Parts: sequence; structure tokens; C-alpha cells
Amino acid sequence: MSALPSLSPAPSPSTSEPSETHDERLSGARRALVLFVVQGLPLLGFCAGVWLFLREGVSGLDLGLLGAMYLLTMVGIEVGFHRYFAHRTFETTRPLRALFLILGSMAGQGSALLWSAVHRTHHAHTDQPGDLHSPLFGRKGFWGGVRGFFWAQFLWYLEVPAIGRFGRLLDRHRASPAGLLTSPEDDQAHRIARTLPDLLRDEPLVRLNQRYGTWVLLGFALPALVGGLVTQSWAGALRGFVWGGLVRYYVVQQVTFAINSVGHTMGVRWLNSRDTSRNNVVMALLTLGAGWHNNHHAFPGSARTDFRWWQVDLGGLLLRLLARLGLAWDLREPSPEALLAARLDR
Ligand SMILES: [Zn+2]
Ligand SMILES: [Zn+2]
Repeated sequence: MSALPSLSPAPSPSTSEPSETHDERLSGARRALVLFVVQGLPLLGFCAGVWLFLREGVSGLDLGLLGAMYLLTMVGIEVGFHRYFAHRTFETTRPLRALFLILGSMAGQGSALLWSAVHRTHHAHTDQPGDLHSPLFGRKGFWGGVRGFFWAQFLWYLEVPAIGRFGRLLDRHRASPAGLLTSPEDDQAHRIARTLPDLLRDEPLVRLNQRYGTWVLLGFALPALVGGLVTQSWAGALRGFVWGGLVRYYVVQQVTFAINSVGHTMGVRWLNSRDTSRNNVVMALLTLGAGWHNNHHAFPGSARTDFRWWQVDLGGLLLRLLARLGLAWDLREPSPEALLAARLDR
């Protein structure tokens, strides 16, 4: 399994079955609790926003905080977690790297290292045994497809007990995180940790990563603070918390998860990525470029996902701007020859 996907077209997926025998599945009660925390609470937060909207309408400040927090956390997820930490498609300064880690963590989708480990596993086994959130693997017929779609969008993490254990595993190896790479243990948490040889050897990064809870709270405190300061009122702070915190959290979460479901089922394919990934313009706009998912799976090591003039990749545009400013460099992208060779219509 390659930890860092290259700029070459993706290799043929493995057909071997992964060993899951050491992994304890979550009990029924635990699954219900995880489902409530991951989906139920965010949905309740979103409903609080709907209730507030029906009662009092929405102000320009509410929408501004929702939009600004959406953009900040989506930049953290797509440019930071995805293109930098998971795929290492460019280089950047240490302060900017820390900012990306904090912004992505504010989205509350797991720490940078956990997110990257799950994502590298997805690329190593896309739509095959071992892919942790494929909507298609093992699904047959129309209803199987419907079930797969909802599983990839809402439920897949219930079958990934490592998610709940990963942070504690890193804490246990705080003195030397790289020790995890040679650990003889072979449960799911250790296996996904082994996809991170580069990140685990970076101890300052691991320490910043382990403050994940603080960064998630910051994602709620920041819009509340701005709302309170601008309106000089507690009511303004509460509205900032609801629109920039609760509503933004749910929307960013569902849009990101839709890359797992929509990104592998709805849209067009024009590059040979040897999986089911699809390009979808709506998803591309919402995710700052990740929705050109067929492009991304064909060339996962590329810092840009727009391979045609009309494809808009806001994350890639931001990276080119940062490169102009000297804040990012070594932006990787496929050669025109590699792109041509990958085209299905050639
Ligand atoms: Zn994918
Ligand atoms: Zn990726």
C-alpha cells in the first residue's frame, strides 16, 4: 500500500481481503451513541438554526458568519487535510501548516492525522475490500445501491472502530509516535496509523494534532465571539454560535461526507482512475474542488483538480495565490502527456 499517492494514474486495486480478525466491532449500544454524537447532535444543531430562522428571520451578520466559517473550515478540510496532510501535493510554511490543521479540525470531522489515515486507506483500496466508505463495494441491484449511498453518507464510521480509538492510541505513543510504525499490533487503528509514516515522524505536528478538542471548540467560540462583539450583546453571541457554529458544522459535515456518496455515484467519468469516482460540478463548487473527484482519483498527488479550462477549482486557485505570495511551493500536477494517456475518450 502506497502511503503517498503519486502523480501517475492510480494502480490497479488490490483484490486481497484485508484481515479484520483482531478488530472488535462496536456493540449495539455503542453504535447508537456514536450515531447520536456524529449525526443526531449536529442535526439538532441545524434544526436550532431552522427554528431561529422561522422565529426571527436571518440577518446579514448571520449569513456572513455562516459563509465565512463555511469557507474557513472547508479550506481547512480540502486544502489542509486533503491536499496537504493526506496527499502532500504541495509544500508550505510551518505557520500556514498549523493554520490548516486548526481550520480543518474546526470542521469536527476528526483530527488531521485520523482524517488523513482514513483517506489514504480510501485511496489505497478504492471501491474494493478495505475501502472504509465505498458506497458500492458489496452492493448489488437498485436497493443495494440505495443502501450503499446512505451508508457512505451517514453510517460508514460505525464499521470503523479505529476512529474512536485513534486519538487514544496516539496519546499512548506521545513520547515517540513513530514507534507506531513498527508496532507488532495489527488491529484496525494500528493498520491505518501505518499509512502515516511521514506525519507520525513529525512530533510537533502530532502534538498540535492532539489538541483536536480545543480546535473543535474554537470553531464554535469564534463565530460567537464575533457575533457578540459586532452586536455588543449576548443575543448576538448566541446567533453567531448558532449560524457560524451549529448550522455551519452540519452543512460542512454533510457536504464533505457527500464526496464519499455522491462523488462515487453521480456525475461523469473521463479519466481512467480504475474506480467509480465521478466529476460533479455542484460538488466541485461546494467542496472547493474536491468534487472533480474522477480527476482527483486519477491523479491523487496533484495540487489542482481542474484539468479542463471550464472546471473551477477554488482550492487550487487559493494554492496558486499562496504560491505567488511565496507561502506555498512545489505544487505538483500531472504532465499534459500523463493527462492525455489517462483520458477514456482518446
Ligand atoms: Zn473517493
Ligand atoms: Zn484524496
